[in-house]
Amino acid sequence: MTPEELLKQYYGYDSFRKGQRELIGHILAGEDVLGIMPTGAGKSVCYQIPALLLPGLTIVISPLISLMQDQVTALRTNGVPAAFLNSSLDEDTYRRTLQQVFRGEIRILYAAPERLETQSFQTIAQEIPVSMVTVDEAHCVSQWGQDFRSSYLRILGFLQQLPRRPIISAFTATATREVADDIIRILGLQSPFSLTTGFDRTNLFFGVQQPRDKFRALTEIIRAHEGQSGIVYCLTRKLVEQITDDLREQGISATRYHAGLTDEERRQNQEDFIYDRTSVMVATNAFGMGIDKSDVRFVVHYNMPKNIESYYQEAGRAGRDGSPAECILLYGGRDVRTNQFMIENSTGNDLLDDETRLRIQQQDLERLKHMTFYCTRHECLRYYLLRYFGEDAPGYCGNCSTCRTNYEKRDISVEALKIVSCVYRLQQIGLQFGVNALADILVGSKAEKYQKFHLEGRLSTYGILSELTQKQCAEMIRFLINQMWLSKGGEYHAVLLNRRSAELLTERPVITMNVVKEEQPVPAGRRSVPEGLDETLYALLRETRKKIAAREGVPAYIVFTDTTLQDMCRKQPVQDMAFLSVQGVGQVKLEKYGTPFMKTIRQYQAEKA
Ligand code: ADP
Ligand code: ZN
Repeated sequence: MTPEELLKQYYGYDSFRKGQRELIGHILAGEDVLGIMPTGAGKSVCYQIPALLLPGLTIVISPLISLMQDQVTALRTNGVPAAFLNSSLDEDTYRRTLQQVFRGEIRILYAAPERLETQSFQTIAQEIPVSMVTVDEAHCVSQWGQDFRSSYLRILGFLQQLPRRPIISAFTATATREVADDIIRILGLQSPFSLTTGFDRTNLFFGVQQPRDKFRALTEIIRAHEGQSGIVYCLTRKLVEQITDDLREQGISATRYHAGLTDEERRQNQEDFIYDRTSVMVATNAFGMGIDKSDVRFVVHYNMPKNIESYYQEAGRAGRDGSPAECILLYGGRDVRTNQFMIENSTGNDLLDDETRLRIQQQDLERLKHMTFYCTRHECLRYYLLRYFGEDAPGYCGNCSTCRTNYEKRDISVEALKIVSCVYRLQQIGLQFGVNALADILVGSKAEKYQKFHLEGRLSTYGILSELTQKQCAEMIRFLINQMWLSKGGEYHAVLLNRRSAELLTERPVITMNVVKEEQPVPAGRRSVPEGLDETLYALLRETRKKIAAREGVPAYIVFTDTTLQDMCRKQPVQDMAFLSVQGVGQVKLEKYGTPFMKTIRQYQAEKA
């Protein structure tokens, strides 16, 4: 069979995604490969399909038990003979699996790196022809990676003991040059074919909101995603506790995860989330590594995280199945200070000398600054993210809050001049104000607190921007500070003149700013069910999936992903051939699940007619 035929037969997909076919081709030609692809891009297919075509066994080294289980369950549901060996198996199952491997009944064997050093594994490796060894999450070999695991360093030793050197393929989502070099060196890849696909995740909507009431904003997002899974990331354990309680009080099905809980509770809560027994997971950044749940429809950051790398990784847990999903960051100025505090007081690594520690701290503060820019600059968010990772992107994506809110470029030269003049006049009469008070004065506020200054008589610039709302005016002042036409300083954070202000007054440059067209916040949610989808049928199909998943004791997305259900909803197949044409339905799944889903569709059509 060809790779294309296997893709259809086992996975039910019609075509390969970017990069997949090339990587598969090079593996089949006997070359080592290094695939660098973002989460959700479809790395698994790249080694699973060659594994089915190569003559011997493929060993996949994977860092976490939960990841292995998930992958193996998914493969088996698709009819691929796969298994894993790890400490979660009881002795009996372990022995049975080994026997299957020896009889050549298993094509793909998953194991943690620690397993390679055990006696049983050594025996397998000596007696069974191993065609390929795949290292998943390969950044774990690198000291540069955050998830470094020392047993990864001994993989090469294991490979060298094998009677014949297998093909080695490595995959990761981490893109930095240092990590890639480490992977090649530490795993001993021989002139590998390396491929990096773009980092863009087109199905993700990126949004930043700066709400007055974060909790309310959060509940609105959750309600817009009724019945769907989502993760809420918080900076501290305490906040996780509080938000979980508050959500429950609102009748929202939520659970929690952080390093302060017992292993048992963490495991339980995580499982509840994966099996859709609770829809919202409130967590610190301790949650997520090894979570393969592909139908997470939204990730909300209740606080701004400490850098863009963490943000992209955490937000990227949304929409791995390729269907639309939302990543919303609820920004508040306090998040900056909390992060600063955490960086400055981090006791993280006692082994470092002071100089190194200081340098790392400086780097961390620098990265925090970029994260803050993400939240405060009015640029296309996707453009900002991709450029941060060194990728080219157009300045408009149409699928982020900046692009959606319809910012328009406006010439604000006149307003800028008026604002700076006002600061200048105030200074002449010995007064200084903060951003909000200054905006009040510019729009001509009659508030009591300004009466004592008798501004109306003394200040020619009082109320010269009365055509603006106070909020618009304050926004412009902030913009001018951000662009360094004005400064902020002193004990009361007053708006002050600087050298460039003088330039502005004398040279009168053209100043443009992206201003919000309407005061309309982007409605959250809706996009998670694509437009034009028959929502009634979709709900019925989800219900059917839920029943099957419960009966089989697997997570719903293992039966079918949301993307598959949506395609089914559009095609409404009632016969085998048509059912097979649905994205994500292969031969085995047709046989297993075709009947109940087609029954649901027939019933629906009959009732509608
Ligand atoms: P990664 O390991 O890169 O994060 P996965 O291998 O888990 O990603 O794949 C993510 C999702 O994309 C899975 O639901 C998978 O079935 C799906 N997928 C993979 N390849 C294709 C393809 N060629 N066409 C459609 N969907 C695909
Ligand atoms: Zn955009």
